[in-house]
Amino acid sequence: MRVIYPGSFDPPTRGHVDIARRAAALYGDLVVVVMGNPDKGPGLSLERRAALLDKCLAGTPGLRVQVYRGLLADAVKDLGARAILRGLRDQGDYQAEKPVADGFLDLFGVETVFMQCRPELGYVSSSMARQLLRLGGPAEGLLPEAIAQEIKSAYR
Ligand code: ADP
Repeated sequence: MRVIYPGSFDPPTRGHVDIARRAAALYGDLVVVVMGNPDKGPGLSLERRAALLDKCLAGTPGLRVQVYRGLLADAVKDLGARAILRGLRDQGDYQAEKPVADGFLDLFGVETVFMQCRPELGYVSSSMARQLLRLGGPAEGLLPEAIAQEIKSAYR
C-alpha cells in the first residue's frame, strides 16, 4: 500500500529518518514528499532537502523521496497514495495534527495514519536543529550521521 510522508524536512532529522525507515518497512511503499510550509519561512531549497533525505535514506527498500509543489490533497491523488503518514512526538503534535487529519477525511476523503516516534527521539525537531546550526552550535545529536558534516554551515 502506497503511503506518503509529507513534511518540510528543513533540515531532515534523526526523527524523520527513523519514521521513514519504519514506515517503509511497515507499508512497503513509502514516498517521502518534501513540501514548502509558508508558516515556517524560507530555509534550504526543497531540492536540497530532498537530496539530503536521499542521502540519509539511501538503500532503504520500499522508499523514495520527491519534491512536490502544491496542495497536499493533490499530492495524494497525483502520487496514487492511500494515506498520509505523520509522525507524533507528543500531545502538542497530536493537537496540531488532529484537526488537519479530520479535515482531510471530511473534505477530501483522504486518510491520515500516525506513527509514534521512538521515545528517545521525542525532543528532536528541525527547528531546534536550525537554531543550533544558525548559531554554530553542535547539532550532530539531532541530525542523521550521513548529513551532519555537510549541513554544518548551511544555515549560517
Ligand atoms: P511540517 O512542516 O509538515 O510539520 P516537519 O518537517 O516539521 O514538517 O515534520 C514532518 C513530519 O515529521 C511531521 O509529521 C512531524 O510531526 C514528524 N516529526 C518531526 N520530528 C519528529 C521526530 N523527532 N520523531 C517523529 N516524527 C517527527
